Amino acid sequence: MSDTEMILSLKDVQRRYSQPVDFVERIGRLIKGGGPPRSVLAVAGVDLNIRAGEVIGLVGESGCGKSTLGRMLTGILPPTGGQVLYKGVPVETLSGARRREYELGVQMIFQDPFSSLNPRMRVLDIIGEGPVAHGLIKRADKESYVTGLMQKVGLDPDYRFRYPHQFSGGQRQRIGVARALALKPSVIVCDEAVAALDVSIQAQVLNLFIKLRQEFDLTYIFISHNLGVVSHISDRVAIMYLGRIVELADTDTIFSRANHPYTQALIKELPVLRTGRRQFDPIKGELPSPIDPPSGCPFHPRCPKVMDRCKVERPLLRAIHTGTVEHLSACHLNQETP
Ligand code: SF4
Repeated sequence: MSDTEMILSLKDVQRRYSQPVDFVERIGRLIKGGGPPRSVLAVAGVDLNIRAGEVIGLVGESGCGKSTLGRMLTGILPPTGGQVLYKGVPVETLSGARRREYELGVQMIFQDPFSSLNPRMRVLDIIGEGPVAHGLIKRADKESYVTGLMQKVGLDPDYRFRYPHQFSGGQRQRIGVARALALKPSVIVCDEAVAALDVSIQAQVLNLFIKLRQEFDLTYIFISHNLGVVSHISDRVAIMYLGRIVELADTDTIFSRANHPYTQALIKELPVLRTGRRQFDPIKGELPSPIDPPSGCPFHPRCPKVMDRCKVERPLLRAIHTGTVEHLSACHLNQETP
């Protein structure tokens, strides 16, 4: 598929943060001199094409850069390297009607439904003010528009004059979904959108996302640390580790023929019922600091299959042949075994 057939594309996208320098360090630098301030490469060069209408899961441990990537897709955060393309056009060159189409068309739903809703606004205004301000609906139609959206997301429209604190966690997340839908988006980036909810409520909200996808013809980028959650909703899954995608494939392939040792470890980590007892097989070690990432393959300090080569040479994300249309993995084992 060409870039123009993709709703969003990432081309070698990077995001670098400068590490804040405290007072003592600043004085030390003044006296002794010193090199440039240290920086963190939170996203270290990601290429990803997102097709219209698909659900792509972005999975990895906390601190792997997946939320930063989500924010760059929505334009909340500009990349410090590479490009984000909307329908084949770099977003920084978009202007006028195309810019507005991108800004309204790519919305985000956040993890914490409580802190992402203004506690002083009634639900009617939380959902309805955006589309009025952007001229999508007339002010006179606001109430009926909000009523319709509340019904779509499973909220009682009679509650439209209530404030966020008068709702449960699951209901608040439904308000967040209605607020995003109110701007008539084509893409929604869901950043750990069900992580703060109880397991039973998670299932209800996931089912809501599945229903709305069909009804509104939506594209989702579903960000989660939980591979199990993502598997219920995603067509493809991208596994991220320390700022890079290390494996990408359709969801069935990820679960049946995971190639990268990190993906295999994430799958082993999922709880399974064996002999009536829950077993938990966690990944060994912790995610290294992106301030001082390991040499070679960033997963090598934790990898059960590490080789000498892995400590010095970073594996590239390459196509591998497992009988599927698209399966990419970044592991030297694929070059070692024919
Ligand atoms: Fe493990 Fe080496 Fe593959 Fe990295 S490149 S995942 S260290 S086998």
